[in-house]
Amino acid sequence: MRDCIFCRIVAGEIPSDEVYEDECYYAFRDINPKAPVHILVITKEHIGGVAEMEGHEELLGGLVTTGVKLAEELGITDAGYRMVINQGADGGQSVPHVHLHVLGGRPLSWPPG
Ligand code: 5GP
Ligand code: ZN
Repeated sequence: MRDCIFCRIVAGEIPSDEVYEDECYYAFRDINPKAPVHILVITKEHIGGVAEMEGHEELLGGLVTTGVKLAEELGITDAGYRMVINQGADGGQSVPHVHLHVLGGRPLSWPPG
């Protein structure tokens, strides 16, 4: 999608600190990290949010397992980590292209703000 910032990152039009790429997914470091490790895993296909993934269950499952694999590679599994998908305004979603946050490297409090 032309005016979507994450589609433009996938296309290489906006630079990003790449962590992983395959046929379906792209992962990169968040520009405003909330933890020592904070990456975003996104679908290459433009999907507006997790609420629009009905019918894309396999892609959604792969998004999560890709996050797990990257957490292992980034060395945050021993202490534990958090995965987050924000949906909509009250959910804190600021970019309307589905993305999985993977955060780790420090203790994370609960509940979130
Ligand atoms: P959301 O608030 O939608 O759940 O998460 C969007 C995330 O994307 C935020 O954590 C924000 O810091 C990150 N972000 C927004 N624009 C860019 C960008 O151009 N590059 C990178 N690497 N991250 C971005
Ligand atoms: Zn997009």
